[in-house]
Amino acid sequence: MENKNIKCSFCNRDKKEVSVMIAGITGHICNFCIEQAFQLVKTENAASSGANAKFNTMKLLKPIEIKKHIDEYVIGQDEAKKVLSVAVYNHYKRINQKQVKGIEEIEIEKSNVIMVGETGTGKTLMARTIAKILNVPFCIADATVLTEAGYVGEDVESVLVRLLQAADYDVAAAEKGIVFIDELDKIARKGDNPSITRDVSGEGVQQGLLKLLEGSIVNVPPQGGRKHPEQKLVAINTKNILFICGGAFDGIDKKIERRMNSQAIGYKTKREEEMDKDNILQYVSPQDLKSFGLIPELIGRLPVLTYLNPLDKSALRRILTEPKNSLVKQYVKLFEIDGIDLSFDKAVLDLIVEKALEFKLGARGLRSICEAIMIDAMFETPTNKADKDIKITATYAADKLKKSVLKKLKVA
Ligand code: ADP
Repeated sequence: MENKNIKCSFCNRDKKEVSVMIAGITGHICNFCIEQAFQLVKTENAASSGANAKFNTMKLLKPIEIKKHIDEYVIGQDEAKKVLSVAVYNHYKRINQKQVKGIEEIEIEKSNVIMVGETGTGKTLMARTIAKILNVPFCIADATVLTEAGYVGEDVESVLVRLLQAADYDVAAAEKGIVFIDELDKIARKGDNPSITRDVSGEGVQQGLLKLLEGSIVNVPPQGGRKHPEQKLVAINTKNILFICGGAFDGIDKKIERRMNSQAIGYKTKREEEMDKDNILQYVSPQDLKSFGLIPELIGRLPVLTYLNPLDKSALRRILTEPKNSLVKQYVKLFEIDGIDLSFDKAVLDLIVEKALEFKLGARGLRSICEAIMIDAMFETPTNKADKDIKITATYAADKLKKSVLKKLKVA
């Protein structure tokens, strides 16, 4: 057959105008048409299956199983783990509840969660771990960057843009995802009295969040940014999105203590005796969130309230070695790739924990301390492979720490 007359049977382009021309039994197809057809098939498949391959195998686990999985990554925090496992289980049970036509079902309400706990105690880690084990889209949003519509900063809807991106633009998958909103305490109204100390920006953002949390259809610009009239908007129903909020709520312990003491007038001494003063957060109640400056409507839409314990020495020590991807395991793996057997003296781990406590950075400090100790070894050993066994000793670690910039981090 002569080459010069070959044309694509779909778009009629000449062979000379295209890079690939595939011959069929009775016709030809060019690379442009193949690509177009491929895109068409992909979108059609995604639309008909309702979810893309990545997220169409959501695992429905029972609360005890969920907790067991979280245990692999998060140390301690048993109470929060239990509360979250149940909330997540109920949430997905609610999503899967069959609606039988004509029969009025008992409607299970959404169980959005709020976690109160110091920074670096595992709030984000816990939410992220749950999303991973359930295989649903997950995103983190920082409440501090959110502003009321029309102000400089991000609209509240931007939270959903991120979730949509995490779901590879699969709207159906995004609508069953999990959103973690960090630093919710930072949008608290300053002061308990709305009429006197009205803090517009904080309260405005709280109002904006209400609409997301309660379940409504929100139009979002899929590429993010401000809404332009010409941009095509995607409608996302937030009814089945689980929102988990977190915040340190600095100073809420005083409010909890005051409330507990005032409730116990007459029984004061007994109350005080019973109170575990080292971990006041365990007594947190919705009322305290209100005193802190969250509006009652928002508190109402976060019905599951739990707390995280501050991390003590033994928890930090366990975090270093026990989780599935603990820091120590990660360093050992990194060296193993270069064929080097890395180990740490026990005293080094104690030293790292001591420093982390000193810097008051929670578990977050562990990483930067480890980096300061390991940086030279990581820099030199890939070239100098003579040593197949490296043992990090306490003297070595202390010396590296002394020389590092970390010591400037020390909190007075
Ligand atoms: P926050 O409570 O501020 O959201 P994160 O969850 O972001 O804290 O924790 C920061 C890092 O510290 C995590 O990535 C994790 O490595 C470590 N971490 C914190 N708490 C725990 C914990 N309870 N168990 C295991 N690792 C933890």
